[in-house]
Amino acid sequence: MKTMKLDNKNYYSNEADWQFMSVSQFKNFMDCEAAALAELKGEWELIRDEKPLLIGNYVHSYFESPKAHEAFIVDNRSKMFSSRKPYGLLKDYKIADRMIDRLKSDDFFNFVYQGEKEAIVEGELFGAEWKGKIDCLNVEKGYFVDLKTSKNLYQRIYSLRYGHTVSFVEAYGYILQMAVYKILLEKQYKKEFTPYIFAVSKEEIPDIAAIEIHPSRYDFEIYTVEELLPHILAVKRGEKPPHSCGKCAYCRQNKRLSSFIEVADLLG
Ligand SMILES: [Zn+2]
Repeated sequence: MKTMKLDNKNYYSNEADWQFMSVSQFKNFMDCEAAALAELKGEWELIRDEKPLLIGNYVHSYFESPKAHEAFIVDNRSKMFSSRKPYGLLKDYKIADRMIDRLKSDDFFNFVYQGEKEAIVEGELFGAEWKGKIDCLNVEKGYFVDLKTSKNLYQRIYSLRYGHTVSFVEAYGYILQMAVYKILLEKQYKKEFTPYIFAVSKEEIPDIAAIEIHPSRYDFEIYTVEELLPHILAVKRGEKPPHSCGKCAYCRQNKRLSSFIEVADLLG
């Protein structure tokens, strides 16, 4: 049951994660139900490499507002600045500054990146209340933009879900994210919305791209949500046991051997 009103303070809270479905939570459940549920219950926390997330948030905060960027630097000062000589910003954040410069000096980016920053959207979809946060929402012109940072923009990644090699946009579930946000916005504002992605790479000389999504790509993503969501919600409510993927960090940690697998099983 949804009882809370979402705002910038409680958006990422555990309570909000229990009351709402989000794209990242959905992706966690798709990866491994057992790990996702244990994380929701506070029984398990994946030790993620913090750096990529911090760099992404550093770039995001700049384009949110000067105040948000300053607050981010104050909160993360110890992780961003060297405590030994030579003092100053660590190399990764110097690259992050270059990523910001590449985007902010681009006229096309500045022309499009106009609207409400970090806009919260919520609404019902396939029997769940969803929450989403949109980097830049332009209601008047009917589009929204998400900023994505990626190691390099032209990576080719094999995806089990798609069954073939895909770009980073598909591999990280960004089309699924854009598809869900598009539906939530269209329900809320009763008009059509077009998603765009501005991507910037974490290379020494960062690359940038303005990416649109062919509408034919949405059906597969929405079908995935419709197909998997009822079971995920039942697991979240404790009505069904979570399935363990058997391969993620959570599953590896809890693994007990009881029988043999054949060599071919290693390829899944
Ligand atoms: Zn697992």
